[in-house]
Amino acid sequence: MTASSRSDYWLKLGTTPEQLMRSAEGFRTMAYAPYSNFFVGAALLMDDGSIVGGCNVENSSYGVTLCAERIAMANAVSSGKINPLAIAVAGEVSSFCSPCGACRQFLAEFNPDMDVLLMQNGSITSISLRSLLPYPFKLEDI
Ligand SMILES: [Zn+2]
Repeated sequence: MTASSRSDYWLKLGTTPEQLMRSAEGFRTMAYAPYSNFFVGAALLMDDGSIVGGCNVENSSYGVTLCAERIAMANAVSSGKINPLAIAVAGEVSSFCSPCGACRQFLAEFNPDMDVLLMQNGSITSISLRSLLPYPFKLEDI
């Protein structure tokens, strides 16, 4: 597992990338996606070792649909947790479900260097959010 070798927090916090992905798969079962039938779950590993997740929630007014990643992060903030170390995203089995641009920006607010775990056909890949979004917008940088 590449994420384990790159980051030492997994052992320290007593979890694994595989466990985080299993959690994301669990949240995926809660997705509300009657229009696209594209079910997504996301699970964040917070710096206190807790896991906070979410699923996509669609709406008849498509534009207000929310992605699993943003819902997971909003759940974390709502619980007083603002320091994510990693996020696992579980979508369709046969292809990586990489966070959309809006979610990359949303997540970068809290940790632009977090690890993003993606899965395809049971194989987990880890990539840094920084590499997915090299120059995130930050109001204080203006
Ligand atoms: Zn998104």
